[in-house]
Amino acid sequence: MFELKQIVRPNIWALKPYSCARDEFQGEASVYLDANENPYNAPFNRYPDPLQLTVKAEIEKVKGVAVKNIFLGNGSDEAIDLVYRVFCEPKEDNVVAIAPTYGMYGVCADVNNVEYRTVLLDEQYQFKADALLKVADAKTKVMWLCSPNNPTGNALDAQEIEKLLKAFKGIVVLDEAYIDFSAHPSWVKRLAEYPNLIILQTLSKAWASAGLRMGMAFASEEIIALFNKVKYPYNVNILTQEKALEMLRNPKKVSDWVDILLKERAKMVADLGQLAIVEKIYPTDANFVLVKVNDAVKTYNHLVSKGIIVRSRHTVVLCGNCLRITVGTQEENAILMKELKTL
Ligand SMILES: *Cc1c(COP(=O)(O)O)cnc(C)c1O
Repeated sequence: MFELKQIVRPNIWALKPYSCARDEFQGEASVYLDANENPYNAPFNRYPDPLQLTVKAEIEKVKGVAVKNIFLGNGSDEAIDLVYRVFCEPKEDNVVAIAPTYGMYGVCADVNNVEYRTVLLDEQYQFKADALLKVADAKTKVMWLCSPNNPTGNALDAQEIEKLLKAFKGIVVLDEAYIDFSAHPSWVKRLAEYPNLIILQTLSKAWASAGLRMGMAFASEEIIALFNKVKYPYNVNILTQEKALEMLRNPKKVSDWVDILLKERAKMVADLGQLAIVEKIYPTDANFVLVKVNDAVKTYNHLVSKGIIVRSRHTVVLCGNCLRITVGTQEENAILMKELKTL
């Protein structure tokens, strides 16, 4: 049995959250004299909604997740940090993650002084639930999964994810930052089945709004309540909330972009396959392609000299001589291919 209280830090479980003016009074009034705001310069004189309820109502429509199961943060990075602050006692608890994966899980572990254990993916960049469980102990509070994974691009095996969710008595975080580009379904529809599941999504990738800084965490009402207790009261500013609402009200635009990018991705994979310098193109479910070349440093430097920036993952474990290439516009991808052909 999964028991939330058993894995939450005792001080967080007992925490009485800061109560701000906007928490104490909710609703419509004509005169606001409760928050020491300046009455001029509307609408920016007012504090934002601390729980971003209007934005969440729109996310409920788009994602099919109830408002009470949604946390919004200053990028997914805020949610990643909150996972540590809510569940992991510094210098005592540990977490387990696949490797290679998104670097922020490890950086936030270091910031919070929490031991970060890793298990290497296999040749196909897949994991086995048993391998993660094997390195876990009584102090393991969280397991980090990312699907589609960054930087490898592939979706993780759904059967192994399910196995881990069932067997592990702590939190399983599943980062779905790239889910809108994936042929595999999101796990959001299955949240109710797994009280230990936290799903991360973001407006930074398919939603084309990395500059807004809005990340989403989907989880049980109890976990969301813990996040809300620990977060800064006004963690998502008015400008971000307004622009996010505008984006969320036009999901058709996003699905059109995704359609274009998936076609461009297929073309990029086909074109890369024609190049002599390319040794392997890894299967991708994301808006980027991980590609192994004969000399990653040389290729990277050549592209930089031509004003084209890709991400070298050469020094990342299991990614020797690999470049991670984001799918751009047709024009951008054509410029990239033209330069790669000269090598
Ligand atoms: C890009 C990315 C994110 C997005 O982070 P934000 O803070 O929301 O911009 C999250 N997880 C992974 C794996 C990513 O690659």
